[in-house]
Amino acid sequence: MKALGYPVTWRTRCFISGGCGQTVFAHTNGYGDFVLFDRLGYPWLIHGCYSLRFLEQEYESISERRIIPQALNQYRKAEDPNPQAPKPKPIILEPNNIKKIFPIRYAEKKNIEITGYIQDHFKKHAEKEMAKMMALQKREFIDKIDKRLDQITIVSSELKSYTAYINLDRGKIKNKDIIAARLQTRKLILSPGDYIFLCDDFVIFSK
Ligand SMILES: [Zn+2]
Repeated sequence: MKALGYPVTWRTRCFISGGCGQTVFAHTNGYGDFVLFDRLGYPWLIHGCYSLRFLEQEYESISERRIIPQALNQYRKAEDPNPQAPKPKPIILEPNNIKKIFPIRYAEKKNIEITGYIQDHFKKHAEKEMAKMMALQKREFIDKIDKRLDQITIVSSELKSYTAYINLDRGKIKNKDIIAARLQTRKLILSPGDYIFLCDDFVIFSK
């Protein structure tokens, strides 16, 4: 899988060597890592051939699925694992055209499902935000983010970036790891005009 430099999701046939050839959805972070899904969206069903070939047999939690690095390296070196497989459509957007998406454009509590890579993550970012707030605002903020004290920025296949509060205690992550996530928005009533993204359901593919 050639490094494209940007994330892409596309419909293709299972191209795992020795695989089934069925229709699947491939996602790459653009940096040589990829994953195959049976279908897109929650709960992100991983295609069986991919699981058998690339994932460690055991992982601590659903949010942390580890890719077998040696298996991936083989694909990284391969220019074209299966010349017959349909290729991702070239996208017109340049990687420096990543568009920041603000939560205010979504209705509260509507699920937004994205697949992409982790551009940035900050542990305990919420504590920094809280330091700037008045007592009542802080109380509302703590109430709405609950245990999601960390912050993550995801760049999706559509080259949109989403910054959300999340609880990352469950697993170790690195920037550029592949992530599939479900976000929701919350309005902060006491901070006028302020909306935040929250992330509860997510799967990380880390090496
Ligand atoms: Zn397959």
